[in-house]
Amino acid sequence: GGRDGLGAYISKPETFPSSVVVYYNDEFVAIHDMFPKSSLHLLLLPRDPTKTRLHPFEAFEDPEFLAKVKAEVQKLRHLAASELRRLYGKDSAQEQARQAALTAESPPDDLPPGREWEQEIMCGVHAVPSMSHLHVHVISVDRHSERLKHRKHYNSFATPFFVPIGDFPLKPEDARRHPTREGYLKQNFVCWRCGRDFGNRFTELKTHLEKEFIEWKKA
Ligand code: 5GP
Ligand code: ZN
Repeated sequence: GGRDGLGAYISKPETFPSSVVVYYNDEFVAIHDMFPKSSLHLLLLPRDPTKTRLHPFEAFEDPEFLAKVKAEVQKLRHLAASELRRLYGKDSAQEQARQAALTAESPPDDLPPGREWEQEIMCGVHAVPSMSHLHVHVISVDRHSERLKHRKHYNSFATPFFVPIGDFPLKPEDARRHPTREGYLKQNFVCWRCGRDFGNRFTELKTHLEKEFIEWKKA
């Protein structure tokens, strides 16, 4: 438990049910976040013992390691997208035709593309992680969750406190290297979808996120 709570997944991934550990290999373990801040919230844990105790900014200074992590994040993003498609994808005739086309030998090229669920997923790290083992969040954009209970929960995924994996390597002068922790987390609440500013009114934000979730699912 505590700050070291992610260590057990890295050392003994085989002891967890598939409802907790999504998959593992020699270098990575993918898990469900125990306190999800969106409808789908996964964590990618690198197992490299020389990296797992480092701050992400330091670990990602190694270009070879960063490349490996980015490749695995893409894999997990893809997996997460197929889960969103399964959960929220339209069951229209068009979608069925598209799915059939995926398996056909020469798919018709006049079918409209399906929704790109990959784009509905954010992958990145917190500038000031609370858990000590290196982890990358792979989280759907909705921020719709019973577990999103505190102000910092929302802003830690809605401000520069969240650093997308694609932004690494960070430039030496990047301001996010020196996060004014309270600064980012105390910013006004801004809706991730429509950009509306809720000031510091968390309850109003939560009600609004509920409506946006319904619209987002069917968009
Ligand atoms: P951080 O703020 O350190 O970037 O995020 C750590 C994440 O780990 C949080 O989203 C939190 O909900 C999650 N977490 C904390 N303890 C556990 C745990 O024991 N198991 C799992 N699966 N997730 C955890
Ligand atoms: Zn909105």
